[in-house]
Amino acid sequence: MTTRTDERRQRRVPKGTCDEFYFEKNMKKCCCCSCRCDVVETDEPHAVVLFYRYISHGERVLNSTTLNALKTSLENAMLDLDVRGKIRLSPEGINGTAAGKESRVKQFEREMKSTKGKFAILELQGVDFKRERVNVNTRAVSEEYGRCKHIFESASVRIVDEVCPFEPSSSKKKAEERLQLGQQRLQPNRLTPSEWREAIQSSDDDVVVLDVRNSYESRMGRFVPEKTVCCPIRRFNQFKEWVEEKGGKAYIENKKVLAYCTGGVRCEKATAYLLSLNVTKEVSVLEGGIVAYARDIGGDGFVGKNYVFDARGCVDVGGFIDENNNFSNNNNINNNNLLSLTKCDGCKAPCIPHLARCASKACHVILAACEECSKSSTSIYCCDTCKANKDGEKKRACECDSYRSRELRCEIPAV
Ligand SMILES: [Zn+2]
Ligand SMILES: [Zn+2]
Ligand SMILES: [Zn+2]
Ligand SMILES: [Zn+2]
Ligand SMILES: [Zn+2]
Repeated sequence: MTTRTDERRQRRVPKGTCDEFYFEKNMKKCCCCSCRCDVVETDEPHAVVLFYRYISHGERVLNSTTLNALKTSLENAMLDLDVRGKIRLSPEGINGTAAGKESRVKQFEREMKSTKGKFAILELQGVDFKRERVNVNTRAVSEEYGRCKHIFESASVRIVDEVCPFEPSSSKKKAEERLQLGQQRLQPNRLTPSEWREAIQSSDDDVVVLDVRNSYESRMGRFVPEKTVCCPIRRFNQFKEWVEEKGGKAYIENKKVLAYCTGGVRCEKATAYLLSLNVTKEVSVLEGGIVAYARDIGGDGFVGKNYVFDARGCVDVGGFIDENNNFSNNNNINNNNLLSLTKCDGCKAPCIPHLARCASKACHVILAACEECSKSSTSIYCCDTCKANKDGEKKRACECDSYRSRELRCEIPAV
């Protein structure tokens, strides 16, 4: 007899097996590798959802007993509904993304938003659960990755210090001390997607559009690339260091900052922090991030693709599909005259890039490649150091893991 715990252990798909999601209908084998799994054919659409909530100042803080109970309830709900994803809980709130059959994802959302029961304490009723129908071309996904992938490998729920880490990894601050920014004492102007579209078109010299995501995300696609400042950071917890020690402050001083990220969770902290510095003229944020913009507006003003932290890799901002199969149908690439977003890390040609990875076994640098080079992505290296270390004998990071190198790659406009 298999117990519930056994079942949960098996939730991580064994090597060599595939999620039904990655089978094309009527195919009896995986589209991307030669494994043969039991195919469950389904016409049911799948969906992915993104949500977060910071517990505001003055509300009760989630203690460890509550967090542990929430973790168990979330794991059970995901198991029951066969929903997978990554959910982070901390004393400051919750941040999550989950995917599965659309009907199950909707049920998951209903349970989480219920005013009664296990999740009531999170008070998620007013939270925007940004749900998108996933209509991936399975071949495109597998070709991009060259191997078998699932949109999420497992149902992972973790209790962490911060739901999105802002403090440097060296920080010794306890979870309670990290609360200040998440509690949103300082509030930016919150722009709806349509207000944002208008704001980024401003020709005002005082306006700076700030992409607070990691540089490899910004390189794949961003709003108004000719005037957007990308942060040359590899992780969000370098943002503060970039602003204070690596020249970032020069871009925001005396400016009206328009900040955005993927779904809004990073901007909550980034903008509260920027306001606390008291050096800007004004700080505004795109409410709900690129994902809400894709849903409500489409791809207008955005060039390239939106990097996502699941097996899809990157998605078209103009290709958002809701549950009625309505496309935002606003192809962001064709609607812009720009044919170039960044230089290909392979041949250096200007391009609208595809995701690629350094071919050295020791390297984790995420690269951008033109269509041609992305087809032979096994031969792209981030630098000569990695090329000489392709089997990964040397374990240390190459020179690409530096602010200077990331600055060059994301071509930040001069101050
Ligand atoms: Zn398979
Ligand atoms: Zn496969
Ligand atoms: Zn190329
Ligand atoms: Zn490398
Ligand atoms: Zn390198």
